Amino acid sequence: MTAHVSVKDDGFVLTALLSKQRAAFLSDGPPSPAMRRADLLKLKQALLKHRTVFEAAVSRDFGYRSAYETRIMEIAPVIQTINYLRRNLTKWMRPERRRVALHFRPGRNRVVYQPLGVIGIISPWNYPISLALTPLATAIAAGNRAILKPSELTPQTSELLKSVLRELFPAEQVAVVTGGPEIGAAFSRLPFDHLLFTGSTNVGRSVMKEAAENLVPVTLELGGKSPVLIGPDADIEAAATSVAFGKLANAGQTCIAPDYVLVPEKDAAAFVASYDAVARKFYPQGNGDLNYTSIVNAKHHDRMLKLIDDAKRKGAKVIEVAAASGEAAHKLAPVLVLNVTDDMAIMQQEIFGPALPVMTYRAFDDAISYINRKPRPLALYYFGHNSEDRQKVLTRTTSGNVTINDTLMHYVQNDIPFGGIGMSGMGAYHGHEGFKSLSHAKGVFEQSKWNLGWLLHPPFNRMTDLVIRYLQRW
Ligand code: NAD
Repeated sequence: MTAHVSVKDDGFVLTALLSKQRAAFLSDGPPSPAMRRADLLKLKQALLKHRTVFEAAVSRDFGYRSAYETRIMEIAPVIQTINYLRRNLTKWMRPERRRVALHFRPGRNRVVYQPLGVIGIISPWNYPISLALTPLATAIAAGNRAILKPSELTPQTSELLKSVLRELFPAEQVAVVTGGPEIGAAFSRLPFDHLLFTGSTNVGRSVMKEAAENLVPVTLELGGKSPVLIGPDADIEAAATSVAFGKLANAGQTCIAPDYVLVPEKDAAAFVASYDAVARKFYPQGNGDLNYTSIVNAKHHDRMLKLIDDAKRKGAKVIEVAAASGEAAHKLAPVLVLNVTDDMAIMQQEIFGPALPVMTYRAFDDAISYINRKPRPLALYYFGHNSEDRQKVLTRTTSGNVTINDTLMHYVQNDIPFGGIGMSGMGAYHGHEGFKSLSHAKGVFEQSKWNLGWLLHPPFNRMTDLVIRYLQRW
């Protein structure tokens, strides 16, 4: 059996792999709740067993990342998701009864949730464990088979995923293929039953184009600029603490990291001072390196330096808020960027690193308008307690998710959907929505032996007319 392959050709091996999974899916039928729960348990146990190896692999791939950070940001959320899926999947698999109009009774309606078949999963490098395994666990919970293509930028973690998953599952159930953009492109051209892509907006666009050839439905988990809106009544120190945590975890290489801050003019100095103090406390000089993650590679490090330089050249004030010396070659000190303008690249692209532009506003409505002039973000963070402001944020802006009075935390809530909108993505997973998006909701009408269908059969007559008039009132 060809399996868990590193593919160098134009997709021939991929096609064979997909055919094998599909054939096995058709011959075995949908797995029972007990089988799905057992598979998820296996996955969880393997992750726990190999936890330290995963932590070390990620750290090597990044140049450095604390084992604690990998545990908090990746391993614990995946375990939590698996527990949640195992607890709920039997309930979600039950057919749902639906209403039947009087004239169709005693016929019955129901919706049955059927696995889609074979799911393709493409994952990025920034959280290489959780963004591969959370979609995979969701696919398994919904009774599917899956082929995963992790990122080439975290090669050690990707190889580890391949070997761990090979130990757990036969290739006709779960397989891993590794490779870069060419393999990603060949992968997107396969006639999967669904494709779940996590990555950048640009690549997402080309994945959707390729998938459209085969009418493969896609879930696109993309990126963008997630704003933080600090309300006039916010507790500035608490807000700065949450923003520093959300921004500097993984050195800002988080899809839902706060991208920039909108703060009332009167609070700007206090915010800058608090953020600076918190960043220094989180990553103290000397041993800060034990906690602070490296930028993943030279290319991204260089990209960040260019963003900061461009802002400086166009008049921004850049303040280094904590040190980032140390062994890892690509560490980059966190910075605040003040006096930014829209012509700076840092305000046009997703930052995806430890630089935080701080913008000020006078009227709350101006801040809302600023957000609405930009593409719809993946996440939005609001700090404040005024119920009118809060309501305005929730009803007048559109973003994938919102966390109020904190950052990142919506991601680890098991029972709410996670996903973007517009340029930040389409479709969602996590929660019941994840199970549904990787299942086919099949509407079934079951006719009863005794029914009124004959009233509509030809030959048509005056009786037909009366029936049609009755039906039109419904
Ligand atoms: P990327 O789009 O460069 O790569 C993602 C994956 O796509 C990788 O596996 C890559 O090999 C593959 N790929 C590259 N070119 C391809 C192509 N032409 N066709 C098909 N696949 C291709 O993204 P990245 O740099 O790995 O990740 C960073 C981006 O991902 C950021 O924009 C970030 O916001 C976003 N992201 C989003 C989420 C989310 O849940 N919404 C989570 C993490 C990261």
